[in-house]
Amino acid sequence: MTRAINFGAGPATLPLEILQQVQEELLDWNGTGVSVMEISHRSPEFEAMMVQAKQDLCDILSIPDNYETLFLTAPARSQFAMVPMNILRGRDSADYFDTGLWSHIAITEAKRYCNVNFVASTREQSYTSIPASTTWHFDPEAAYVHYTANESINGVEFQEIPDTGDVPLVVDMTSNILSRPFDVSRFGIIYAGAQKNMGPAGMTLVIIRKDLLGETMPKTPLIYDYAYAAKTKSLYYTPASIAYYMAGLTFSWIKNNGGLTAMFTHNQKKAAHLYACIDASDFYTNNVEPACRSLMNIPFLLADPALDPVFIDAAKDAGIVAIKGHRLVGGMRASLYNAMTEQGVLTLTDFMQEFTRRYG
Ligand SMILES: *Cc1c(COP(=O)(O)O)cnc(C)c1O
Repeated sequence: MTRAINFGAGPATLPLEILQQVQEELLDWNGTGVSVMEISHRSPEFEAMMVQAKQDLCDILSIPDNYETLFLTAPARSQFAMVPMNILRGRDSADYFDTGLWSHIAITEAKRYCNVNFVASTREQSYTSIPASTTWHFDPEAAYVHYTANESINGVEFQEIPDTGDVPLVVDMTSNILSRPFDVSRFGIIYAGAQKNMGPAGMTLVIIRKDLLGETMPKTPLIYDYAYAAKTKSLYYTPASIAYYMAGLTFSWIKNNGGLTAMFTHNQKKAAHLYACIDASDFYTNNVEPACRSLMNIPFLLADPALDPVFIDAAKDAGIVAIKGHRLVGGMRASLYNAMTEQGVLTLTDFMQEFTRRYG
């Protein structure tokens, strides 16, 4: 068996230790004689696992007491609708940053529920930067401000948390949560799909300030009501148990590997290797403004797009997979989530240098 070096944007590479642990206990989880996928979500074993997972997450993120942590069986984009449904609180407008394709999809969905004010947009510039804070326009009537911390398709990442005063700040952290330390208390809602930095697909994490609970739009289905999820400890419906379990293993893996400070150092190092390789060559380019470059998702173009399929095939022979860029951006993209090793990135940069020697 050989494990490929997987640069996929999501579903993404998972820590080898976690996969091995799941493999070992697949037939008999925790002395129950059944796998974690076969046990009732109302069993004491499963409930204890959820409590532990939430505790580990609280520890690594220092989540304050006035926040609820919810595990939802839903894709990340379910939040594009759940956020307005739950926290418009009778208002009819919300503020959105438009800094990439994910922001844009979130905006399109929000428009079904309220008016959207664009705080700033880089759509005309093909989403290659984060606009300076001096150009931002907030709507004083907005129920909340939404932004996407890391745009996994465009490769731009906010380096700082926007200051929105008393207006609740909502963030889509799907592709960079747990990649670096951040202050939870700056946010009204933090949400993230699991399949980038927290495990397999099937779960979305929501961390919400408690005072925002309980004013859901009339007729919101119960499964989309944050307050109800909080009340039922995220166990109202049958969850994607394996995803919850593996997210829990990921939280404890992060805790045992130095927490978010260590993850940040590790992620900075990996990204620095790849950006240095791109910037040192005339053959590869990354169009994102350097101050906004993502640590997690690094798109790059080859000087001759006709070589794209050749690059992808040769990469595969070198054990490198899922390096093809998003169809809307083209070229290549390397995703360097927590589970990507430094050695994996060095194998890629060696391969890239070798490729330019042959075709550059
Ligand atoms: C991947 C991604 C999503 C979409 O996740 P789904 O679970 O497929 O809905 C949303 N937002 C961001 C920032 C992402 O990176």
